[in-house]
Amino acid sequence: MIETMQIEISAIKKSRVSSVDFDNLKFGKEFADHMFTADYRDGQWQNLKIVPYQALQFSPAMSALHYGQSIFEGLKAYKNDEGQVLMFRPEENLKRLNQSAVRMCMPELPEEVFMNGLTQLLSLDKDWVPNKPGASLYIRPFLFATDEYVGIRPSDTYKFIIFTCPVGSYYAEPVRVRIEREFSRSFPGGTGSAKTAGNYAAALYPAKRAQNLGYHQLVWTDASEHKYIEESGTMNIMFLINDTLVTPTTTGDTILKGITRMSVLELARKWGVKVEERKVAVDEVIAALKDGSLKEAFGTGTAATIAHIDIINCDGVDYKLPSIENRKFSPKVLETLDAIKTGQLPDEFGWITKVN
Ligand SMILES: *Cc1c(COP(=O)(O)O)cnc(C)c1O
Repeated sequence: MIETMQIEISAIKKSRVSSVDFDNLKFGKEFADHMFTADYRDGQWQNLKIVPYQALQFSPAMSALHYGQSIFEGLKAYKNDEGQVLMFRPEENLKRLNQSAVRMCMPELPEEVFMNGLTQLLSLDKDWVPNKPGASLYIRPFLFATDEYVGIRPSDTYKFIIFTCPVGSYYAEPVRVRIEREFSRSFPGGTGSAKTAGNYAAALYPAKRAQNLGYHQLVWTDASEHKYIEESGTMNIMFLINDTLVTPTTTGDTILKGITRMSVLELARKWGVKVEERKVAVDEVIAALKDGSLKEAFGTGTAATIAHIDIINCDGVDYKLPSIENRKFSPKVLETLDAIKTGQLPDEFGWITKVN
C-alpha cells in the first residue's frame, strides 16, 4: 500500500557528542545530533527523513500554536554491558500515541513509520546513549497540526518528529506532595487520558501554587467531588497499604495510562503481591496514614521510574510517611526495572527492543 516509506538520511558532518559533559547532564537541555521527521499530507504519511537536530520554520498561523492539536510521548533507551542499545516498551508508546491521536482528531502513525524512524535514529545516534548507572537517552516523539489556517477544525496536515536527549540519573530525592482539592487536571469526557499538550499547560498554575507552598508536586483528585485520588503531577500514584498495592483505576478517561504503572503492576502480580486497581478515596489514604497502615506511597513515570513520596499534605496538614530505608516494595521495583532496562536481568516479560 505505502511504497515510499524509505527514510532519507542526511547525517551531520561532525558529531557534537564529544562536547557534551555526560557527568553533568541537565534533564531535557542537551539534544543528540539528529532527529526523525515525517509529514502527513493528502491523507498520507510521507517525506520520512533523519536530519541534523535543528530549528524548524513555520507559519505564524500554524494551527497547533492556536488550538493545541499537539500530542507527545516519552520513553527511554539504555545501554547494556555489551554496548547494545535497548529500548523499554516502545510499542506501548506507539499504541498510546495513536490513542491520543484519535481523541485529538489527528492521524494515527503506522507502526512502520514509528518503529523504523525510532530504530534508525537511535542506531545513528547510539553514541549519545549513556552507559552510566541511572543515565539514559530520553526519547521524545511528538505530533502536531501544521495547517496554515486560523479557522477551528482538525488540521489536514501534520508533522511527526522524534528527537532525543541524554539524561543523567534522576536523583530520586523523596518528594513532598499536596493533595489538590480546588483545581482539576481532567474530568470525565475530557482529555485526561490523552498525552496532549494542553493538559500540561492547564496544570502549570496549580502546580506552581503547590510549589510556592513548598511541595514538589500536587496530587490530583477527581474534578466532580475532589474526593478520589487520580495522579501525582505527571506520574501515576501507588500506595502500599499493609501488604496490598493500591492504585487508582484507569478505566475512566481522566487518568493517563502510564507504561511504568503497567510494568510495576505486572511485576507486583508476578511477585505475588496483592494488587487493587480501584477508586482510592483521599479519606482512606489519610486514615491509613494516621493508623500506620500506609507503608509506602510513590509516583511512577518514565522520567523518574519511581518517585518515593515522603510527605503528603492534605487540607493544610503534613503527614509524614515511613522512611525509605523501611520500605520493601518500591525500592525493589525500582532496582528490578533498572536491571531489566539495562539488560542486567533477563527480559522475561518481553519489554526490551534491541536496536541493531
Ligand atoms: C506520561 C505521564 C504519566 C506516566 O506515563 P509513563 O508511560 O509511565 O511515562 C503519568 N501521568 C501523566 C499525566 C503523564 O503525562
